Amino acid sequence: MRVLLAEDEVRLAENIAAALRGGPGFAVDVAEEGATAVDLAERGFYDLVILDLNLPKKDGRLVLKTLRERKDKTPVLILTARAERESIVELLNAGADDYLTKPFDLGELIARAKALIRRASGTAVASIKLGDIELNTLEQTVMRAGQLISLSPTEYRVLEFLMHRPRVVVSKRELLEHMYDYNWEHHSNVVEAHVSNLRRKLDRNAATPSIETLRGRGYRLFVDDEAA
Ligand code: CA
Repeated sequence: MRVLLAEDEVRLAENIAAALRGGPGFAVDVAEEGATAVDLAERGFYDLVILDLNLPKKDGRLVLKTLRERKDKTPVLILTARAERESIVELLNAGADDYLTKPFDLGELIARAKALIRRASGTAVASIKLGDIELNTLEQTVMRAGQLISLSPTEYRVLEFLMHRPRVVVSKRELLEHMYDYNWEHHSNVVEAHVSNLRRKLDRNAATPSIETLRGRGYRLFVDDEAA
């Protein structure tokens, strides 16, 4: 999962980015100005936007307005100073999905970030199920047919992304764009290896295969619901 963080307070931005990269293993791009956030968001890489309201060069309200006018449905979590609280209703009406008042607890930010990403793909609970595969985003564990499967952090991130897009063909490029930050192109040659390791682990004791490779198109996670 890839997050766009628009925050001009450098130390706060660093702390938030470190927390998002650490626990949940998200890729994070930081924009220090509203205009940069708007440009980055246009590329469509993001699973979540975390948006400070008081930003130079296009404040957060305007960034939110621009995204929603563009029909960008990426969930937006607003960061607001206490004095700005009265405008929260207005922001929620303008298409913000959630907000946090500064100062906030980083653990709470991460919990809300994960919840927004899950909700965007139609899952309100911490655990995502597809057929006999179950991924728990809180514990970051994966089970198949009741057996715990041990995955590397990268394999987990690949599966998490695919579980949010079941039965849909995901291109290698899309996978890379949502898993890594600015330097994603450097990882292009390793993605196939990660997918193949993930598939091997998932399918070891399973009756049906999980991840299909569609030559020239990408990957598809498909598990028969009957298998559950
Ligand atoms: Ca600010």
